[in-house]
Amino acid sequence: MGTTKDNERALERIEADLSKIGYALPGTLSVQAYRCGKTNCRCHTDPGALHGPYAYWTRKVGRVTKSRALTAEQLAEYQGWFDNARRLKALVQELYDLAVSILDEDPRRLRSRRPENELSGHAKRPAEQSSGPRQPA
Ligand SMILES: [Zn+2]
Repeated sequence: MGTTKDNERALERIEADLSKIGYALPGTLSVQAYRCGKTNCRCHTDPGALHGPYAYWTRKVGRVTKSRALTAEQLAEYQGWFDNARRLKALVQELYDLAVSILDEDPRRLRSRRPENELSGHAKRPAEQSSGPRQPA
């Protein structure tokens, strides 16, 4: 029960990797060429004449999906931050997996569903606590 030396080593490794993440950007980065709105433009008849390709950063802000085109310079500058976000996600998953395996392997179990085994927080009922001092008769 509890954690083992192996668990502690795994946790320390995850923590060390987490501390090296740096900036991380949410959302996804995609590179797309596109057809413009001008129907007489070559891009509508010649697949080789599509505009771009441009890099788009897409992310959810609340319920709204926001998209923004990035310049080549921005792409070069921020690409690493997207990589960092992927690494961060993987590390968080490793942390979850580690913690889940620790609790899964904990042999302690409730033996029955009798009231004595319930968490002690429910012992006092609100009604018993709220009775204020009474005036002497
Ligand atoms: Zn066009």
